[in-house]
Amino acid sequence: MFLNDWWYTTLMGTPLKIEPPLRGDVTTDVLIVGAGAAGLAAALQLMDKGLDVTVIDKNVCGGSSTGKSAGFLTPDSELELSQILRRYGRQGAKDLWECAQWGCDRIADVIRANGIDADLQKQDCLFLGEGRGGPKEVRDELAARRSMGYEVQGYTAGELPSVVGATGFTGAVRYKNTTGVNGLRYAQGVKKVLVDHGVHVYESTEAIGLKDHTVTTHLGRVTADNIIFTADKLKRDLTDYFWNYYYAQTFLSISEPLQPHEVQAMFPVEPFMCWDSHFIYAYWRLTGDNRILLGGGSLWTTYAKRDAWTDRIIERVLRRFRGHWPSVGHVHFRQFWMGRIDMTRDLMPTVLREPGKPWIHYVLGCVGLPWATFCGDFAARHVLSDETQDDHRFYRYFGIDRGFVIPLWAEKLMGKRISFVVNQAYAKYRQVDKNRPEAEKPREF
Ligand SMILES: Cc1cc2nc3c(=O)[nH]c(=O)nc-3n(C[C@H](O)[C@H](O)[C@H](O)COP(=O)(O)OP(=O)(O)OC[C@H]3O[C@@H](n4cnc5c(N)ncnc54)[C@H](O)[C@@H]3O)c2cc1C
Repeated sequence: MFLNDWWYTTLMGTPLKIEPPLRGDVTTDVLIVGAGAAGLAAALQLMDKGLDVTVIDKNVCGGSSTGKSAGFLTPDSELELSQILRRYGRQGAKDLWECAQWGCDRIADVIRANGIDADLQKQDCLFLGEGRGGPKEVRDELAARRSMGYEVQGYTAGELPSVVGATGFTGAVRYKNTTGVNGLRYAQGVKKVLVDHGVHVYESTEAIGLKDHTVTTHLGRVTADNIIFTADKLKRDLTDYFWNYYYAQTFLSISEPLQPHEVQAMFPVEPFMCWDSHFIYAYWRLTGDNRILLGGGSLWTTYAKRDAWTDRIIERVLRRFRGHWPSVGHVHFRQFWMGRIDMTRDLMPTVLREPGKPWIHYVLGCVGLPWATFCGDFAARHVLSDETQDDHRFYRYFGIDRGFVIPLWAEKLMGKRISFVVNQAYAKYRQVDKNRPEAEKPREF
């Protein structure tokens, strides 16, 4: 196996062109820093609204998490519905689930409306119980979906062979309205849409400084009425909010294309997007050309401080996969790559305006393409008009003033890595935020 992001390989043969870097000084109405799913959603929202919009990215559009991702477009992020329901109660779960579903639909709609060639695959989700906790996870998830009135189907271990050629799972939850996507081709396709609609897009343009209304890049400067930061892994010299997140590392691999009989053995009825019920879960789905796209990690490498440039982790994920799917155990996996996802302590995104500088907006730590899309769009809508916003209630979930089980002072003693593991595990399996008061700050936002 060799280290290579498969999605970059899939750009070969497309007519997409790289946008040149910004040189010199420009002024604009809105500057978006970072062109992943969040920045692109913001730009799409602002496009054609009579504003001059500029997007810069230090890499290419989609060049970080968005373009490395496995492309599961599902409202489940790191939190399943049952976990959101426990944390926020019925209304909160409804709000949040619908935001994330909106993000899924938005990406699919943009792809369809603009004819973007991003390998959009309509596939139901299959959440598979595994290990001792598996039956409970599946039970909880089924109960949550039923209680919220969302369409869902459950399978016992005995029923699973009717839909998947896998062994060793304790049951599953199936639900609809989800798709798989090639995130890099989506991002590059959106770039073309933006450029065609008059948005200025500069790739290979890194923001290195911020003062008042001006962002300095490595070759120029942009002065803007509003600035939306949707960049990942922001450094201390650009923002004071770098403390807000840490990076979780996950590994992906892709197989050679399956033969039709192998697809049939894996998914006798239709292909599913699958993941298991572990804290560090494994996930897999079929791409449009019938390759198995598979991902996962280990507790150690997920929270490692440095990138682990090794195929050892993905080899372990593969061994487990082959144990569950003996019918495709012989299939070769050729390429692997890894990526780091910005995450907050409680796995919820943070959207905020800089106090005292309301023209500076931040979208931070969005786990998942749908969340990033919703939050980027959300921030952009606040640029358009404060007064007409009816969604300030979302700051209850996304505001920065959230408490954590390991408080910040204790994190200084125990280190960021351990603190994030504990906070995130707590947020996923124990935390209750139901009584958190509404963050009503209409004046500020
Ligand atoms: C390997 C992997 C697999 C994943 N699988 C899935 C999945 O299946 N489904 C799912 O929903 N999510 C998945 N995710 C998570 C998802 O990709 C991210 O949560 C999402 O893409 C975040 O989008 P974003 O726009 O916030 O950030 P990013 O996509 O990281 O975009 C931020 C952009 O900012 C740019 N940037 C950073 N600093 C600067 C600077 N100083 N100046 C200019 N530009 C800058 C970067 O180049 C980047 O393009 C995965 C992530 C990884 C890494």
